Amino acid sequence: MRPVSRPVYTGQLYVNYKSYLKPLIENFGGYCSYCERQDKLDVEHVAPKSKNLHLEVEWGNLLLGCPRCNRDFKKSKNDNREGYMWPDTHNTFGLLKYLEDGRVTPADGLADDIELIVQNTIELVCLDDKNQPQKTLNLARRRKFKSADIAKRKFVDGCQTLDEILLLAEEGFWSVWLTVFKDIDEVKEALLNHVSYPNTSGDLA
Ligand SMILES: [Zn+2]
Repeated sequence: MRPVSRPVYTGQLYVNYKSYLKPLIENFGGYCSYCERQDKLDVEHVAPKSKNLHLEVEWGNLLLGCPRCNRDFKKSKNDNREGYMWPDTHNTFGLLKYLEDGRVTPADGLADDIELIVQNTIELVCLDDKNQPQKTLNLARRRKFKSADIAKRKFVDGCQTLDEILLLAEEGFWSVWLTVFKDIDEVKEALLNHVSYPNTSGDLA
């Protein structure tokens, strides 16, 4: 779950929240804010609009959600932001651990109260779908880890360029790429500043 810093919105104001899809994609990139896949994207209300009518067209409440994360799992299960971590308010990369077998868990060594909000978000959008009948994310992440591992080996051997890696990383699962390349500063920096992933929050120490 790529952390993003939300820019102040200076564009046109809309009465229909769906009109914010374009500015959201321009500001955050064309990926689901939760699972990081390129998919059909909709405007996602962090605090569900059914329970927070006043936030229906509020820029600060909007992210991007794929049908899987938004419609199939998150729905309106949360009342508001409380009790969860969110990509526009938390370091959602540092608080999660992405594993080669496709699972996602809270990062090691978190304080109990932080681990709880991380776990709540994992469950809210079913970020770890290993036990689901359809393991969409698990299987795709596993494949992405393999691609990224191969790219890393080739990069270290001088057989793959940085540009080629950035092109591969455009296909999604930004956190998998950052996990695999976290100890190679040149690639890590380029992923943090990738033009397809705008406004990635750089505070990832
Ligand atoms: Zn998603």
